[in-house]
Amino acid sequence: MGKPIIELKHFSYRYPNSEEIVLKDIDLTIEEGDFVGIIGCNKSGKTTLCQSMVGILPFVLGGDWDGEIVVDGKSYNETHGDGASDVIGIVFQDAESQFTQETVEDEIAFAMCNFGFEQSLMRERVEYAAKACGLWEMLDRSPYRLSGGQQQRLAIACILALRPRVLLLDESTSQLDPQGRDEVFRLVEELHANGSTVIMVDHNIEKIAEATDKVLVLHNGEVVDYGETHKVFTNKEKLNEHFVRVPQVTDAALALPEKLIGDVTPITLKEAEASFANYKRER
Ligand code: ADP
Repeated sequence: MGKPIIELKHFSYRYPNSEEIVLKDIDLTIEEGDFVGIIGCNKSGKTTLCQSMVGILPFVLGGDWDGEIVVDGKSYNETHGDGASDVIGIVFQDAESQFTQETVEDEIAFAMCNFGFEQSLMRERVEYAAKACGLWEMLDRSPYRLSGGQQQRLAIACILALRPRVLLLDESTSQLDPQGRDEVFRLVEELHANGSTVIMVDHNIEKIAEATDKVLVLHNGEVVDYGETHKVFTNKEKLNEHFVRVPQVTDAALALPEKLIGDVTPITLKEAEASFANYKRER
């Protein structure tokens, strides 16, 4: 088992001026180096959970809570979320609306200016983040003249420059075309391979099945499943019960009259190609 980086201990949350308890008794651990996908139907609490993990809720926007969230060994009940951004960087859905600078370079440097980084460190970090996100050739471009995928990669670069250990992406690909979406997934998979812990809320079941090693399923503010990606995605009955579908290849495999011989049920296209080739041969 890896070192716990984010722990929710019986955490419940209610928005200000609302009766509804939106997160209910959430108890889970995310370990350093994990790539966790968060899925669930609309209004299941995914964004509320993300904002709680970075301390925006309740410590910036208010609301009532019970239980605690511990990040890198420190309880938010004591820190009130201070220092959270040193550990976790959050990337929101709509990148374009967050840009304020005239060039990609200035945009990446902007948060660092606010944190009072030294010039030389800033230059080093801009280079690191721009190269990691494939934007090194575009430093002089206006953020508004980038494609959707490039804009999301810029939003990730801005966060990456601060060197958080955990990258949290809340539906960062939902407004992108398939090419932009693939660019973002490729980038986060690379960052994960290089040691970052990644948490990603996304509706694209196929991409989540390919990229993550753990999946968390939320429904009505409760964790209904959390575990190894393969195990979660082959439990069709449980997912469907909570209005989440399994990957198309998994559906196809489960619909076969006989079990795929000598194989585990596929959840990705690559696994399916091997499984179905086997199946054809055996018949
Ligand atoms: P998801 O990201 O899965 O769509 P959300 O976390 O956005 O879910 O919403 C979960 C529940 O919290 C919903 O019932 C939603 O109406 C409620 N909610 C979200 N934001 C607020 C808010 N600012 N005030 C009151 N209720 C809210």
